[in-house]
Amino acid sequence: MELSSPVDALGLSAKKAAALRRAGVETVEDLLYRFPLRYEDARPADPAALRADGPAAFYGVVTGMPVLKFFSPGKSRLAVRLDVGGRPLTAVWFNQPYLKARLAPGTAVWVYGPYDVRRRTVVAQRTEIAPARPPDGVVPVYPATEGVRPKEYRALVEAALGRDDLEVPEVLPPPIVRRYRFPDRRAALRLVHLPASPDDVARGKRRLIYEELFLFQLKLALLRGLRRRRATGVAKPVDEGRLRRAIEALPFRLTGAQARALREIVADLRSPEAMYRLLQGDVGSGKTVVAALALYAVVTAGFQGALMVPTEVLAMQHARTLRKLLPLDAELALLTGRTPPAARERILERLRDGRLDVVVGTHALIQEDIAFRRLGLAVVDEQHRFGVAERRMLLEKGEGTDILLMTATPIPRTLALAYFGDLDVSTIDELPKGRGEVETLWTTPARFGAVLDFMRRELQAGRQAYVIAPLIEASEKVDFENALALYERLRTALSEFRVGLLHGRLPGKEKDAVMQAFVRGELDVLVATTVVEVGVDVPNATVMVIVDAERFGLSQLHQLRGRVGRGAAKSTCILVSDARTEIARERLRTLVETRDGFLLAEKDLELRGPGDLFGVRQSGLPEFRLADLTSPYDRTVLAYAHRDARAVADALLEARSAGRPPAYEGEPLPAALLRLADDVLRRPVALD
Ligand code: ADP
Ligand code: MG
Repeated sequence: MELSSPVDALGLSAKKAAALRRAGVETVEDLLYRFPLRYEDARPADPAALRADGPAAFYGVVTGMPVLKFFSPGKSRLAVRLDVGGRPLTAVWFNQPYLKARLAPGTAVWVYGPYDVRRRTVVAQRTEIAPARPPDGVVPVYPATEGVRPKEYRALVEAALGRDDLEVPEVLPPPIVRRYRFPDRRAALRLVHLPASPDDVARGKRRLIYEELFLFQLKLALLRGLRRRRATGVAKPVDEGRLRRAIEALPFRLTGAQARALREIVADLRSPEAMYRLLQGDVGSGKTVVAALALYAVVTAGFQGALMVPTEVLAMQHARTLRKLLPLDAELALLTGRTPPAARERILERLRDGRLDVVVGTHALIQEDIAFRRLGLAVVDEQHRFGVAERRMLLEKGEGTDILLMTATPIPRTLALAYFGDLDVSTIDELPKGRGEVETLWTTPARFGAVLDFMRRELQAGRQAYVIAPLIEASEKVDFENALALYERLRTALSEFRVGLLHGRLPGKEKDAVMQAFVRGELDVLVATTVVEVGVDVPNATVMVIVDAERFGLSQLHQLRGRVGRGAAKSTCILVSDARTEIARERLRTLVETRDGFLLAEKDLELRGPGDLFGVRQSGLPEFRLADLTSPYDRTVLAYAHRDARAVADALLEARSAGRPPAYEGEPLPAALLRLADDVLRRPVALD
């Protein structure tokens, strides 16, 4: 029997087989890779040794007459005294009056259920009366399957694993199995399904979690390998001298993290392999500077660069930054949907003949009539705001174009491997020194008056303020009404200042106009729903008020807070919330205490689970059967699996292109692994 054999081969009724199929279990492999939800420790316990309440198993002899009480028809309690290894214990059964006749004094009983230490009482959930042998070991509890009882599921698993002819081919490369001292695949499955002790479960899981994460990372690593090896990769001979002079001419020194990220990028640019890299960094960590230098690097190599951003406001801001930071020998232009036709024509012409070195723009960059002479690097800021197709369109404007994606949503490095295992990731995890301090305060709605007083003082000093309106999930209409109500309230309370409103229902152009007015200082206060641009840089804004802060994710709050503290002046972020739950309070406290986006992301993950790490990738995290990426242990395993999978994928792809049989560390790769790899490699791969 093989793992791919249908479950029917285990000799079960057509009805049960159909029920299993409905639960997604078609093959023996499906059956064995559906793991127990938890385990019951069925080893009989010594009541004297138990210190804490909790589920436990006992094996003893009935010493007194059973006492049965009815509370109401159908509701009863049966209690009996047991002697367990010389110690008295009370066992209780609810609503099973018929057991009374079977529990005569002298009968041997095994019971399992929650045990109350003080009362020395166990409430039996599972019972075996006069068993030939008391249950021993650890009993797996499987997820519910309609039409198949957990006991039956267990029996099927036992039957499958008990068959001598069941073939469980190894998928992990032998050097890896040895390196981590893993049990082989069949042994690991036996350990988690038929364990004799909790220790067995742990040993089996250790390997199976690795296996799951390794195979997942292997697919991503193969995609990455294919992309890097795509025929069109072109080495760009970056002029290190000119690049160094550009760095020295900056008004500040690069942080260590910025320098490292830039080195990683430049190494990719110089290599003939195609770059597909993500640059992630905390708010304010200085990603734009790194992107600007990367663009300049390809210019020194005789190529052009493009920077695509999601909005007009950001495009203008980035163009301004690049003009300020880049040497004058780089010709730069801004291209958006609002560039006048004549100017646009000139830009297009200069892009075609190569006189323009760098273009910054919005979606306007991917229109059909835009052609580059030699596009060497495409940078996409706030990459999650673009679809795959849009990124590809930009990439297709050049040949051998390298791509750099940027995201301002820092996620813990180990988790980035899961999200972005098919990319290379550069992380800027250090803030430039000398940035304005940001104090974070948390207050209640009842004290909003004091918040207004504080705002008034800052505004009088010539500063600007953001006020973020509460967010009501899944209702843009309510969000809008909330923002509108808040706007009216502030307009009245702060009537001597200019207050603007930015919300999701405004047409794009008006959104840009309001935002621009705030950027130019023509508005003092900006009331906004979260549409306030992630990358917006208004150094004069020193106050960020977030109403109903508990409704936002931690990372989102951190992003919003990142809008202030951009100038030299001290800034303040005020969270307004009467957080009612302990989790909400814990999250706000965390935010008050730390400014480190990576630490916050880690904390968010622990508090809310990975599903909520918003908007990083549309799809979110893949679902694993065993691995749990909210667990720090599993994330460590992921880091190892990631590194190993890249090495194996590279070895495999290299052997393929050289026509050699694939090997890893001198040993052939298992056939089962090659089959999985072929599945990935055969599929048409989108090389975007
Ligand atoms: P991000 O996009 O990562 O949020 P930016 O690139 O907008 O950050 O940089 C934030 C601010 O910090 C900008 O005003 C930038 O000029 C400044 N900055 C960037 N790098 C440094 C540095 N190494 N030292 C001092 N200031 C820096
Ligand atoms: Mg930015």
